[in-house]
Amino acid sequence: MLFRHREGASMSARTAHRLVWLAALLPSVIFLAHLDASAIASTSAVLNSTGRLTGVAGLSMLLMAAILSARVPGFDRPFGGLTRLWRTHHLLGAWSLILLLLHPVLLAFSAAGASIDSAAATLLPPLSDLASWSGWAALVLMMIFLAPSFSFFGRPRYERWKKIHRLAGPAVALALVHDFWLSRGLPTWLDIALWSALALLAVGAVGWRFVFSRRIGRLAYTVSEVTAVANNVVELSLEPHGRKLRHEAGNFIYLTLEDASLAAGRGEEHPYTLSSSPDERQLRVAIKSLGDASRATQTIRPGTTARVEGPYGRFFVTPDRVPEPELWVAGGIGVTPFLARMRHLQRRGETADVCMIFCVQDPAREIFATELQNLADQLEGFRLNIHYFYREGPLSGSYLDEACPDISRRSVYICGPEPLNALVQQHAAAAGIAASRIHTEEFELL
Ligand SMILES: Cc1cc2nc3c(=O)[nH]c(=O)nc-3n(C[C@H](O)[C@H](O)[C@H](O)COP(=O)(O)OP(=O)(O)OC[C@H]3O[C@@H](n4cnc5c(N)ncnc54)[C@H](O)[C@@H]3O)c2cc1C
Repeated sequence: MLFRHREGASMSARTAHRLVWLAALLPSVIFLAHLDASAIASTSAVLNSTGRLTGVAGLSMLLMAAILSARVPGFDRPFGGLTRLWRTHHLLGAWSLILLLLHPVLLAFSAAGASIDSAAATLLPPLSDLASWSGWAALVLMMIFLAPSFSFFGRPRYERWKKIHRLAGPAVALALVHDFWLSRGLPTWLDIALWSALALLAVGAVGWRFVFSRRIGRLAYTVSEVTAVANNVVELSLEPHGRKLRHEAGNFIYLTLEDASLAAGRGEEHPYTLSSSPDERQLRVAIKSLGDASRATQTIRPGTTARVEGPYGRFFVTPDRVPEPELWVAGGIGVTPFLARMRHLQRRGETADVCMIFCVQDPAREIFATELQNLADQLEGFRLNIHYFYREGPLSGSYLDEACPDISRRSVYICGPEPLNALVQQHAAAAGIAASRIHTEEFELL
């Protein structure tokens, strides 16, 4: 089961994303400001200027995408969480590829104004022209590492996709070599200062992600208990070796398990939402078998060493209390952020005017149902409804209205498969709920 969503972001998150785009476009603005009248003196000159502009814009978006890949805990919060931040990373990568593909084509059209031979030489420079070939090499690497992200050739296994994505490093380096070598249009000092600053930030981001976070960003834990919640879901309790991760309800972590006997996924980092309350000593994660690694985790043994990185994400606006009425809709394993918040609210003795709809296929798959009911009974104002797909069909607008007649006055939180997310978002929007009050979590980062 894959979880994905599209949603309206809060005002501040939207502003943060806009600032990223503005920063990515800044080199293009500076480039345009330095153009003189000769840049638009003829069709060929316009094509040449546009070709160089696509190079500048494509490179700055590529570098900005690299900067956003840092995965520093907390950095994602102003952006509304890591999943949303990575959507912008994704878009920047896609636009950078499109612009950098246009770059040589426009320059060749411009050169065609002089002669077909010079157009051909732009597209296929002599072997000795290493400056141009470094640009071509960067572009080829980009096509290789970005194509799987956009499903051109189907969906690769996540770990394979990640390995291919590492080609981004050499691609960025070659694109910078190409730029420093050939760049024309900006004063040299400005050219060097601009690209060096962006390149340093990108190197810092990648350095954090692949070197420092592994040494200082990961906390050591031991799997202390494994509870079978259903026949394909286990909840792991994790005991800290030293410092405990601080987090809030709704956050997720990257978990790396080191059990030598694991059939798959040993040493791989996988994102899981914390199902424990932030004030518990141990961390808990509930893991459903959705692929090789999560299937192997079903038989993990207590005593296994685990590394925890995070926390990431920002699902709940007020994770510690429910100041205004809320509607929660969970689908299957998408119940984990809600479970964490219920456990937390109950421990704090909070009241919670919440109408929760938990969608499962049949009673055999209603994970945590007994605990959810117990927690609901202890939280004043909380109403829990369980919707069974096989008995009642897909969740519908009329079911939502019946289970939660005052939906229009509630903030909405959804975590489940895409069709469920889409249906509830549409219904909530039709009920007049502003997009900024509809929040979704996605269990899908690609
Ligand atoms: C923010 C977030 C929170 C999540 N919370 C939970 C949870 O509480 N409980 C739960 O059971 N599952 C959760 N998941 C899903 C879980 O991460 C995947 O099921 C797991 O990583 C699958 O790995 P696999 O090797 O078993 O399957 P694969 O077949 O390798 O992958 C299945 C799909 O899972 C995703 N995936 C796999 N590995 C990764 C990775 N390292 N990083 C990002 N995505 C990956 C990919 O989209 C892939 O297509 C969450 C995912 C995200 C993004």
